[in-house]
Amino acid sequence: MDSLAELFYEEMRDVLSAERQLIKALPKMAKKAHSEELRAAFEKHLAETEAQADRVEQAFEETGKAVRAKTCEAMKGLIAEAESMMKEKSAPEVMDAALIACAQKVEHYEIATYGTLCTWAEALGYSNALQLLKQNIDEEEQTDKALTQLSKTINREANV
Ligand code: FE
Ligand code: FE
Ligand code: FE
Repeated sequence: MDSLAELFYEEMRDVLSAERQLIKALPKMAKKAHSEELRAAFEKHLAETEAQADRVEQAFEETGKAVRAKTCEAMKGLIAEAESMMKEKSAPEVMDAALIACAQKVEHYEIATYGTLCTWAEALGYSNALQLLKQNIDEEEQTDKALTQLSKTINREANV
């Protein structure tokens, strides 16, 4: 890669893959959640994730290149860990605590990625992409905070 523009494009392909993988994984996590509130949080974030993938697609425009995902291996790994954890035979509250942990790892990965992408979009003068990516990072941060809030009750219930 010879330019920041190229690096930005490759990272955009990665995050598009990450969001698309999550669109498939979140319904499984919602189904596995015992707490009604946790399930609702996953379902809410699924709807947001669908909108985020659309925003990422729109944010490709300023690169002048094709909208094409490239497998995000990190997200693949995070989802594989979540899936093996979901196969464990666990007490309901413990499963919920584990689901929150997996989901927060995902959100932190997304926050890191969007943080970098926002910085690069700014440097490249991609103002439309920047505005779209900022909306995504805001939602990821809000989701992370909501999960921390939910974990307070759930961890207490799991700790018996
Ligand atoms: Fe996302
Ligand atoms: Fe990635
Ligand atoms: Fe997210």
